[in-house]
Amino acid sequence: MTTTVSPLTNPATRESITMPEPHVAALAVQKSYRKGEHAVPVLHGVDISVRRGEFLSIIGQSGSGKSTLMHLIGLLDTPDVGEVQLEGQRIDDLPARTRDELRNRVFGFVFQFYHLLPELSLMENVLTPLMIRHSIWGYWQRRREFQERAKEMIDRVGLGHRLTHKPSELSGGEMQRAAIARALVARPEILLADEPTGNLDAKTGREIIDLISRLNEKERLTIIMVTHDKSIAAEAHRTVKLCEGRIESLTDAA
Ligand code: ADP
Ligand code: MG
Repeated sequence: MTTTVSPLTNPATRESITMPEPHVAALAVQKSYRKGEHAVPVLHGVDISVRRGEFLSIIGQSGSGKSTLMHLIGLLDTPDVGEVQLEGQRIDDLPARTRDELRNRVFGFVFQFYHLLPELSLMENVLTPLMIRHSIWGYWQRRREFQERAKEMIDRVGLGHRLTHKPSELSGGEMQRAAIARALVARPEILLADEPTGNLDAKTGREIIDLISRLNEKERLTIIMVTHDKSIAAEAHRTVKLCEGRIESLTDAA
């Protein structure tokens, strides 16, 4: 009988099998919230790393900290301990302004309840990330180009006939499509989708997932998606479960 040394543990070969650097990663992150006198721990040391072009889903019970984790990864909040890295560089401790710029440039967000601005038309809602990114003057100079880009994105999510509609005039599925167009108009590298189908019926939810999957395949967009629904989660390349503030792997990397 011969014994073979695992390539994973053999220092001679370790170099050649090193995985590509993660696109985005959370390393040993901990987060607590204050409730009166007490700190209530939510994340107890979460490790998660996502490759460029990967589509990862996160499942877990309500209250397990899925949204908290998404907020930390997307620089909407900061961890108490641990770090968030983009291409191996720490990003959670950057000065506020740099973080804001990075968030706007790198991440697109889709939420369960859409978070569209009710006073704005679909077109205006989709344009908001570009308005935020550019100065008033810079935006004004390039407004035609940006309007074209927004229109193209809206066409891609199948809402070209709804440009001037307000969110209240759209169905749930249409609002989520609009939110996806808004998330993508500024050409982010990473889409963070927090229960994007949580408020939709099964058929509409399936259409939204098909749209998200196509974006992943065609654009090689890195996607992290939180969902309650195991059949929705199964559309991703890999699923992890957040359980009592820690990550468990459910499926292997594709
Ligand atoms: P999930 O998305 O998995 O349902 P969350 O990340 O939203 O879970 O919340 C995890 C826990 O943290 C819950 O107990 C929730 O009540 C608490 N929590 C979340 N956000 C806050 C906050 N801003 N302040 C205080 N507690 C919070
Ligand atoms: Mg949540």
